[in-house]
Amino acid sequence: MEYVLELAKKAAAEGEVPVGAAAVRTSDGLIAGTGRNTSENSRYPTGHAEITAINSAAEKLGGRRLHGCTLYVTLEPCAMCAGAIINARFDRLVFGAYDSRCGACGSVVDLFNAGLDCRTSVTGGILREECAAVMTEFFSSLRRKKGRYILTPITADDQIRRACAMSGIPAAEIGAYEKRDFIRRRSTPIGLMLTNSGGIKRMIIFNEYKNADIGEIASAVQADIYCSADGGGVADGILRTQNT
Ligand SMILES: [Zn+2]
Repeated sequence: MEYVLELAKKAAAEGEVPVGAAAVRTSDGLIAGTGRNTSENSRYPTGHAEITAINSAAEKLGGRRLHGCTLYVTLEPCAMCAGAIINARFDRLVFGAYDSRCGACGSVVDLFNAGLDCRTSVTGGILREECAAVMTEFFSSLRRKKGRYILTPITADDQIRRACAMSGIPAAEIGAYEKRDFIRRRSTPIGLMLTNSGGIKRMIIFNEYKNADIGEIASAVQADIYCSADGGGVADGILRTQNT
C-alpha cells in the first residue's frame, strides 16, 4: 500500500486526482503493472489508475486473465474500475480510502456482491487515513489555487464604516492597520484581514461565518494561525505571515 500511496502522490504532483494502483502476482510478489490517474492530462475519462495497472499487468503477464494477482489501490474503485477488476479475474482487491461519492465496493454500490460472475475478494480500509489524507490535501490545495478565498482591499470610506460595523471593532482601531482587506469567499465578504506596519495580521471572521474553516483561510492567504482566541479557531484569530 505504501508503494501505491507514492504513485498517488506522483499523480497529485502532475495535477491529477491522487490515486495509485499496482497489480501484484501473489506467488512471487512481482509487481506486474502499475498506474496512476491520468484523466486530467490525457483527457481520457477512462484514465484511472486501476485501468492502467490492469492493462500493463495483462501485457506483462501475457494474458487478459489475472488469476493469482492482487490489485492494490489507494481509493475505493469506481464502477468502471470495479467492472474491469472483475473482468480481469483478480483474486483479490485491496483498497485504502472509501469513496462516498463513487465507490463501487460498498460505499455507493457493491459490484462485487451484485450477482455478477465475480471471483474477487475485497479488503477495504488499509492505510485508510493516509490514503484519505492525500485526497483531502489535493482537493484543498485545488480550492486554494482556484482562489476560493481572496482578499480585496477596503478602500472607500463607506466600505470601512461597513467593515467596522460588521466586525464590531471601533473604526479608530481599524485605522491603526495600514493594510485593510475583506476576506471574501466567492464574492461574499466573510471577514477582515488587517495588517499593521510590523506585518502582524489580525483576522476577524464575521459572526455569521464563524463556521468558516479558519485554517483553510489562513493557508489561502499564506498566513500561519499565530494564536486563536477561542481555541476552536473560528471566531477571532491573530495571524502573521510565514516569512515574518
Ligand atoms: Zn475508476
